Amino acid sequence: MQETILGHDVENLEPENENLSSETEESAAGPRRPKRVNQPVEKRTRKRKVNKDKWKCNTHKAAVQSGAEHFSKSGKFIPAKAVQPSCGTSCRFKCSSRVTEEERRRVHSRYWKIYGQQGKWNWHARHVKTFDKKSNNEKETRRKCSRHYFFTIKGKEVKVCQTMYLSTLDISDGSVITSYKKIGPDGALSPDKRGQFKTRRPRQISEHLKDSVREHISMFPRVEAHYIRSTTNREYLDPTLNIKKMHSMYLEWVVEQ
Ligand SMILES: [Zn+2]
Repeated sequence: MQETILGHDVENLEPENENLSSETEESAAGPRRPKRVNQPVEKRTRKRKVNKDKWKCNTHKAAVQSGAEHFSKSGKFIPAKAVQPSCGTSCRFKCSSRVTEEERRRVHSRYWKIYGQQGKWNWHARHVKTFDKKSNNEKETRRKCSRHYFFTIKGKEVKVCQTMYLSTLDISDGSVITSYKKIGPDGALSPDKRGQFKTRRPRQISEHLKDSVREHISMFPRVEAHYIRSTTNREYLDPTLNIKKMHSMYLEWVVEQ
Protein backbone atom coordinates (compact mmCIF):
# COMPACT_ATOMS: atom_id res chain seq x y z
CA MET A 1 0.00 0.00 0.00
CA GLN A 2 1.36 3.38 -0.98
CA GLU A 3 2.02 6.07 1.60
CA THR A 4 -0.41 8.91 1.36
CA ILE A 5 -0.34 12.39 2.75
CA LEU A 6 -3.71 13.97 3.25
CA GLY A 7 -5.17 11.65 0.72
CA HIS A 8 -2.64 12.51 -2.06
CA ASP A 9 -0.71 9.85 -3.87
CA VAL A 10 2.96 10.66 -2.93
CA GLU A 11 4.50 9.31 -6.15
CA ASN A 12 2.28 11.47 -8.24
CA LEU A 13 2.52 14.48 -5.96
CA GLU A 14 3.51 17.51 -8.01
CA PRO A 15 4.55 20.90 -6.72
CA GLU A 16 1.51 23.11 -6.44
CA ASN A 17 2.93 25.72 -8.74
CA GLU A 18 5.55 24.47 -11.17
CA ASN A 19 6.46 27.90 -12.40
CA LEU A 20 7.44 29.12 -8.98
CA SER A 21 9.67 26.18 -7.95
CA SER A 22 13.02 27.31 -9.28
CA GLU A 23 15.01 24.85 -7.08
CA THR A 24 13.34 21.84 -8.68
CA GLU A 25 14.31 23.29 -12.02
CA GLU A 26 18.03 23.40 -11.07
CA SER A 27 18.23 19.83 -9.70
CA ALA A 28 16.05 18.11 -12.24
CA ALA A 29 18.03 15.65 -14.34
CA GLY A 30 15.61 15.64 -17.21
CA PRO A 31 15.05 18.32 -19.84
CA ARG A 32 14.95 21.83 -18.40
CA ARG A 33 11.59 23.26 -17.77
CA PRO A 34 10.68 26.46 -19.54
CA LYS A 35 11.77 29.51 -17.60
CA ARG A 36 9.24 31.71 -15.96
CA VAL A 37 8.27 34.52 -18.25
CA ASN A 38 7.30 37.80 -16.73
CA GLN A 39 3.93 38.64 -18.23
CA PRO A 40 3.32 42.38 -18.60
CA VAL A 41 1.08 43.32 -15.71
CA GLU A 42 -2.04 45.10 -16.86
CA LYS A 43 -2.37 48.43 -15.14
CA ARG A 44 -4.88 48.11 -12.35
CA THR A 45 -7.17 51.03 -12.87
CA ARG A 46 -10.80 51.88 -13.17
CA LYS A 47 -9.97 55.28 -14.56
CA ARG A 48 -11.69 55.86 -17.89
CA LYS A 49 -9.59 56.02 -21.07
CA VAL A 50 -8.90 59.47 -22.49
CA ASN A 51 -10.62 59.94 -25.83
CA LYS A 52 -9.57 63.33 -27.16
CA ASP A 53 -11.84 62.95 -30.22
CA LYS A 54 -14.85 63.23 -27.93
CA TRP A 55 -13.69 66.39 -26.17
CA LYS A 56 -16.21 69.14 -26.77
CA CYS A 57 -13.58 71.55 -28.11
CA ASN A 58 -12.42 68.92 -30.63
CA THR A 59 -15.89 67.81 -31.79
CA HIS A 60 -16.73 71.51 -32.24
CA LYS A 61 -13.56 72.10 -34.23
CA ALA A 62 -14.20 69.04 -36.42
CA ALA A 63 -17.77 70.21 -37.13
CA VAL A 64 -16.60 73.71 -38.07
CA GLN A 65 -13.82 72.35 -40.29
CA SER A 66 -16.05 69.89 -42.13
CA GLY A 67 -18.96 72.31 -42.49
CA ALA A 68 -21.29 70.08 -40.45
CA GLU A 69 -24.15 71.52 -38.42
CA HIS A 70 -23.17 72.53 -34.89
CA PHE A 71 -23.78 75.01 -32.11
CA SER A 72 -21.51 78.03 -31.98
CA LYS A 73 -19.63 78.79 -28.77
CA SER A 74 -22.34 81.31 -27.92
CA GLY A 75 -25.00 78.61 -28.34
CA LYS A 76 -26.34 79.65 -31.74
CA PHE A 77 -27.36 76.85 -34.12
CA ILE A 78 -25.19 76.83 -37.25
CA PRO A 79 -26.72 74.74 -40.06
CA ALA A 80 -24.55 72.48 -42.24
CA LYS A 81 -22.80 74.09 -45.19
CA ALA A 82 -24.65 73.63 -48.50
CA VAL A 83 -24.43 74.95 -52.05
CA GLN A 84 -26.30 78.28 -52.12
CA PRO A 85 -28.21 79.77 -55.08
CA SER A 86 -25.80 80.90 -57.81
CA CYS A 87 -25.37 84.30 -59.47
CA GLY A 88 -28.24 83.59 -61.89
CA THR A 89 -28.72 84.38 -65.55
CA SER A 90 -28.03 88.11 -65.25
CA CYS A 91 -24.33 87.51 -64.39
CA ARG A 92 -21.97 89.15 -66.86
CA PHE A 93 -19.54 86.17 -66.61
CA LYS A 94 -22.41 83.80 -67.54
CA CYS A 95 -21.18 81.43 -64.78
CA SER A 96 -24.33 79.27 -64.87
CA SER A 97 -23.72 78.31 -68.49
CA ARG A 98 -20.15 77.18 -67.72
CA VAL A 99 -20.56 75.47 -64.35
CA THR A 100 -23.39 72.98 -63.86
CA GLU A 101 -25.15 72.43 -60.55
CA GLU A 102 -23.58 68.97 -60.33
CA GLU A 103 -20.10 70.48 -60.79
CA ARG A 104 -20.85 73.09 -58.13
CA ARG A 105 -21.81 70.32 -55.68
CA ARG A 106 -18.52 68.51 -56.42
CA VAL A 107 -16.47 71.69 -55.87
CA HIS A 108 -18.35 72.32 -52.61
CA SER A 109 -17.72 68.78 -51.38
CA ARG A 110 -13.99 68.93 -52.29
CA TYR A 111 -13.57 72.20 -50.40
CA TRP A 112 -15.26 70.98 -47.22
CA LYS A 113 -13.28 67.75 -47.20
CA ILE A 114 -10.09 69.78 -46.70
CA TYR A 115 -9.27 69.46 -43.03
CA GLY A 116 -7.76 72.46 -41.27
CA GLN A 117 -7.90 76.15 -41.96
CA GLN A 118 -4.42 76.12 -43.45
CA GLY A 119 -5.61 73.81 -46.25
CA LYS A 120 -8.63 76.01 -46.94
CA TRP A 121 -6.45 79.11 -47.17
CA ASN A 122 -4.23 77.22 -49.60
CA TRP A 123 -7.31 76.43 -51.69
CA HIS A 124 -8.17 80.15 -51.94
CA ALA A 125 -4.55 81.02 -52.72
CA ARG A 126 -4.77 78.64 -55.69
CA HIS A 127 -8.23 79.64 -56.89
CA VAL A 128 -8.34 83.40 -56.34
CA LYS A 129 -5.90 85.58 -58.23
CA THR A 130 -5.33 89.29 -57.67
CA PHE A 131 -4.45 91.79 -60.34
CA ASP A 132 -3.35 95.39 -59.89
CA LYS A 133 -5.92 97.82 -61.22
CA LYS A 134 -4.73 99.75 -64.27
CA SER A 135 -6.47 103.00 -63.46
CA ASN A 136 -5.12 105.24 -60.70
CA ASN A 137 -8.25 107.36 -60.62
CA GLU A 138 -9.94 105.09 -58.10
CA LYS A 139 -10.77 106.59 -54.75
CA GLU A 140 -8.46 105.74 -51.86
CA THR A 141 -11.17 103.67 -50.17
CA ARG A 142 -11.69 101.40 -53.17
CA ARG A 143 -9.63 98.25 -53.56
CA LYS A 144 -6.38 98.82 -55.40
CA CYS A 145 -6.45 95.35 -56.91
CA SER A 146 -9.18 93.22 -58.37
CA ARG A 147 -9.73 89.57 -57.57
CA HIS A 148 -10.45 86.91 -60.14
CA TYR A 149 -12.11 83.71 -58.99
CA PHE A 150 -11.67 80.27 -60.54
CA PHE A 151 -12.90 76.72 -60.11
CA THR A 152 -10.94 73.73 -61.36
CA ILE A 153 -13.40 71.67 -63.40
CA LYS A 154 -12.23 68.57 -65.27
CA GLY A 155 -8.63 69.75 -64.83
CA LYS A 156 -9.29 73.18 -66.35
CA GLU A 157 -9.56 76.57 -64.69
CA VAL A 158 -13.01 78.07 -65.20
CA LYS A 159 -13.40 81.74 -64.32
CA VAL A 160 -16.45 82.57 -62.19
CA CYS A 161 -17.75 85.68 -60.47
CA GLN A 162 -17.34 86.35 -56.76
CA THR A 163 -21.00 85.50 -56.02
CA MET A 164 -20.66 82.11 -57.75
CA TYR A 165 -17.42 81.38 -55.88
CA LEU A 166 -18.70 82.27 -52.42
CA SER A 167 -22.21 80.80 -52.85
CA THR A 168 -20.87 77.49 -54.15
CA LEU A 169 -18.52 77.10 -51.18
CA ASP A 170 -21.09 78.70 -48.82
CA ILE A 171 -18.51 80.97 -47.23
CA SER A 172 -18.15 84.70 -46.61
CA ASP A 173 -15.53 86.87 -48.23
CA GLY A 174 -13.63 86.86 -44.93
CA SER A 175 -11.72 83.61 -45.41
CA VAL A 176 -10.64 84.65 -48.92
CA ILE A 177 -9.34 87.98 -47.59
CA THR A 178 -7.57 86.21 -44.72
CA SER A 179 -5.82 83.85 -47.09
CA TYR A 180 -4.53 86.88 -48.98
CA LYS A 181 -3.24 88.48 -45.81
CA LYS A 182 -1.38 85.23 -45.13
CA ILE A 183 0.49 85.22 -48.42
CA GLY A 184 4.02 86.54 -48.06
CA PRO A 185 6.10 88.31 -50.72
CA ASP A 186 7.40 84.91 -51.92
CA GLY A 187 3.82 83.73 -52.55
CA ALA A 188 3.90 81.19 -49.70
CA LEU A 189 1.22 81.00 -47.03
CA SER A 190 2.41 81.71 -43.52
CA PRO A 191 1.44 78.90 -41.10
CA ASP A 192 -1.75 79.00 -39.05
CA LYS A 193 -0.77 80.57 -35.74
CA ARG A 194 -4.22 80.60 -34.19
CA GLY A 195 -4.45 79.33 -30.63
CA GLN A 196 -0.71 79.59 -30.09
CA PHE A 197 -0.57 82.85 -28.21
CA LYS A 198 -0.16 82.28 -24.52
CA THR A 199 -1.70 85.62 -23.61
CA ARG A 200 -5.08 84.43 -24.93
CA ARG A 201 -5.06 81.24 -22.93
CA PRO A 202 -7.30 81.61 -19.93
CA ARG A 203 -6.09 80.84 -16.42
CA GLN A 204 -2.45 79.97 -16.92
CA ILE A 205 -1.40 78.45 -13.60
CA SER A 206 2.29 78.55 -12.74
CA GLU A 207 4.13 75.30 -12.02
CA HIS A 208 5.15 76.71 -8.65
CA LEU A 209 1.50 77.16 -7.64
CA LYS A 210 0.59 73.67 -8.92
CA ASP A 211 3.45 72.13 -6.89
CA SER A 212 2.28 73.98 -3.82
CA VAL A 213 -1.29 72.64 -4.24
CA ARG A 214 0.05 69.10 -4.86
CA GLU A 215 2.14 69.30 -1.71
CA HIS A 216 -0.91 70.32 0.32
CA ILE A 217 -3.09 67.55 -1.14
CA SER A 218 -0.40 64.96 -0.37
CA MET A 219 -0.66 65.89 3.31
CA PHE A 220 -4.24 64.59 3.60
CA PRO A 221 -4.54 61.00 4.86
CA ARG A 222 -5.51 58.57 2.13
CA VAL A 223 -7.10 55.13 2.18
CA GLU A 224 -7.23 52.31 -0.36
CA ALA A 225 -10.52 51.64 -2.04
CA HIS A 226 -12.30 49.08 0.13
CA TYR A 227 -14.60 47.12 -2.19
CA ILE A 228 -12.70 47.58 -5.44
CA ARG A 229 -9.17 47.08 -4.10
CA SER A 230 -8.61 44.16 -6.47
CA THR A 231 -9.27 46.26 -9.54
CA THR A 232 -7.61 49.55 -8.71
CA ASN A 233 -4.57 51.10 -7.07
CA ARG A 234 -6.32 54.39 -6.55
CA GLU A 235 -6.37 55.90 -3.12
CA TYR A 236 -9.20 57.92 -1.70
CA LEU A 237 -9.44 60.95 0.54
CA ASP A 238 -11.79 61.18 3.46
CA PRO A 239 -15.35 61.21 2.03
CA THR A 240 -16.30 64.20 4.22
CA LEU A 241 -13.76 66.37 2.37
CA ASN A 242 -14.72 68.41 -0.65
CA ILE A 243 -12.98 70.90 -2.95
CA LYS A 244 -14.36 73.90 -1.07
CA LYS A 245 -13.13 72.64 2.32
CA MET A 246 -9.75 71.69 0.86
CA HIS A 247 -9.44 75.11 -0.77
CA SER A 248 -10.10 77.00 2.46
CA MET A 249 -7.66 74.70 4.31
CA TYR A 250 -5.11 75.34 1.59
CA LEU A 251 -5.49 79.12 1.97
CA GLU A 252 -4.95 78.83 5.74
CA TRP A 253 -1.93 76.57 5.16
CA VAL A 254 -0.37 79.00 2.67
CA VAL A 255 -0.71 81.89 5.18
CA GLU A 256 0.99 79.76 7.86
CA GLN A 257 3.90 78.94 5.55
ZN1 LIG B 1 -21.56 84.71 -61.97
